[in-house]
This record gives sequence, C-alpha cells and structure tokens, in this order.
Amino acid sequence: MEHNNLNYEKLYVFVCIFLLSATIQAQSFRITKTVVNSSITDTCLSLPDSITSVSLYSDEAINFTDILIITDSATYIPHEEGIHTETENGMWSELIIFEHPQTHLCISKPVHKSITFTGIYVQPYTEIEKQSAVQLKSSSCSDVPTMIYQDEWRADLPAPDYERIYTETKNIIIHHSAGSNDDANYTDVVRNIYTYHTETREWDDIGYNYLIAQNGIIYAGRDPGEFPQDMVQGAHFSGNNAHTLGICVLGNYEEVLVPNTAYQSLRKLVTWKCAKDSLQPLLTASHPLNSKLPIIAGHADGAATLCPGNYLYEFLPILRNEVADSLRQCGYTIATDLPEIAFHNQTSKKGSISDTELCYVFTIQGQLIAKDIVEKIRHYTENPLYIIIPQKITEE
Ligand SMILES: [Zn+2]
Repeated sequence: MEHNNLNYEKLYVFVCIFLLSATIQAQSFRITKTVVNSSITDTCLSLPDSITSVSLYSDEAINFTDILIITDSATYIPHEEGIHTETENGMWSELIIFEHPQTHLCISKPVHKSITFTGIYVQPYTEIEKQSAVQLKSSSCSDVPTMIYQDEWRADLPAPDYERIYTETKNIIIHHSAGSNDDANYTDVVRNIYTYHTETREWDDIGYNYLIAQNGIIYAGRDPGEFPQDMVQGAHFSGNNAHTLGICVLGNYEEVLVPNTAYQSLRKLVTWKCAKDSLQPLLTASHPLNSKLPIIAGHADGAATLCPGNYLYEFLPILRNEVADSLRQCGYTIATDLPEIAFHNQTSKKGSISDTELCYVFTIQGQLIAKDIVEKIRHYTENPLYIIIPQKITEE
C-alpha cells in the first residue's frame, strides 16, 4: 500500500509540472496552420486566436508576390525568402510580422496552387526597447559592442536545446529580415523570427548570430551554449553555414537605405569581429557558394536571393572601407583586393560624374539625394570612387 501511495504522489507531481509547463507554452506562442486549397482564389480566415506573424509555404514553385494578405489595417505582399537549407523542398515566403495582433484576415490568391498558411502568436515583450541607449562611441576595436542576449529577449519562449557546432569565421554574411520598416517593436520582431525559425521551420534555434534593429540595438541571436556568440554556427547561408557568421539587419532594404543608427551598429560589430579574428575587410575568401566571396559579404553574394536588399547590398563597399579605416586607426595593416573608396567627409556638394568616375552621394540620415546615381552604383567595381556626404544637403 505504501508503495502505491508513493507512486500516486509522484504521478501527482508529474501532472502538476506538466500542466504548469503546458500553461506557460500556451501563453508564449501558438501556431495556427491552414492549407488554402488550390481552387480557392480568395479566402478569409477566422482565426481561433490572434496572430502576430504569418508565413506561406508551397510544395510547388510559386510567385508569392502574386498573393495579397489583407488585414483590417494593411495589405501585405509576401516575397520569397532567401533562406533555404539543403533538406527543404518547396518554397517559403518571408515572415510577415504584423504591427498589431490580428484575429482574421483574407488571402487573395490568383494562382491556382495550394499554399500552407502558418500563423504565429508570440506574446508581446516590449520592455527592452525602452532601454534603447545605444553606445556608438567606440574607442577601441577590441571593445565588445553592447547587446541584448537571448535569455533576456526570449523571456518566456521555450529555450533551444540542441548540440551546438563550433565554427571559425572566414566570411561575415549580411542579411536583412525583409520585414516591415515601420514596426518599432524590435524585440517582438526578434521573438517572432525566433519562433518562426524554431517552431515553423523546425530549426534548432534562430538562424542568425546577431540581429540589429533600426534604432541600433544589437540582439545576440543564436544561443551559443558554451561557445562565444560569434563562434556558434548558424542557419542563414543557404545550407552552407560552416565558417560563416550571420548578421541580420531588421527591415527591408530593397527600396530604402538602412537607418544610420543600424548602420553604425553594424559597422561597430563587424569592426570588432574583424579585429578579434584578424579578418581582412577588403579581401575575399573561398567558400562553396562563391570561390571569391568577400570577407564581408551579402547573402546575395552566395545565393540567388534579394537579401540583403539592393540598398544594403550596395552599401557593403562603404561598410568594408569604413571597417578598414577603423582597423587602420587601431594599428592593423589592411590588405586590399576589393576596391577602396575615397572618403570626403563634410563635403557639401555633389561629386562630378564622368565615364570614369562615379559619385555615390547619400545623406547618412537615410535619405537618398541623387536617385539617378543609384542605378550607376551597380557597376561600382568598375568605378571605384565614392563620395559620402554625412550631413543632409539639398538637391542641386
Ligand atoms: Zn539573407
């Protein structure tokens, strides 16, 4: 009898723990999965719960930009996501994160193909944005940039549990999240990406080593376990992640420039990493996806993807050169292979444009001054002269 009583007690404790953990999980995130039939062109979904983000998946080749996701307050056009792993078939859209939780929405789908709609609800966690004091003053290349670590931003979400792989970085890969540029709930964006990667995509952890919000806050991404944050191998470079470090800038940079706050944090983080590992910012390194992959590369340098967006991609030569400048000031010797940029700080007029010279004129506040010049920047490797104008100027 005594023996049986003991078992009941154990069972009681077990049930209590199970109920407790089940309750916590239900509060943290909920997943809603619906297959939208191939013959239905317009579908309105009444969701059992509100959702904070949505992704689409199709077994067949599909152009996601044909599809509209319509909420009460906005219309979203999903794009193809640039992250694929070797084991995955089919196509995924980018993750669309709503600025406010949604309880019902409509999908307008002119293509006659079945798609799987996955909605995620992640409990908002906005406390971290309030402490947005970003320290941009960098005195030494060896100063570790200030960041918010995963155990803080993940909060109530389930912790990742897997065997980490250690990798030595040869290439730093820059991404954008392709999400909204207006959503200022940065921590919630990171939490939705984490839940999407771990629950929807069933990856071990969030794909990136670091994420940078538009206001310059750096979020430590993938939980490194016993390794340093920059040494844990991520999941971000089309299934070829060995010897890479993944940094994702939140927002979509297909049509707008990266905010200066985010750019400065990116520059600081990349400078620190290059100094730490003696990486040369103006050289390339061989990688399975590109035999001459720049040490500081964009996702598009190794895969057919729009990531990290035209405007961030075309800023990479400037990033490389600014990192090189910072490293020189810290006493490092810089080898050059990629084009060097001439910096003319505090210049207040546009540079001249000729067949042999190209001027790259921006305000660093994120407003483009000379739109026509942007088209020519695509040929930057043939025209290695750039001028950066750090203060706002009016168009001539
Ligand atoms: Zn990417």
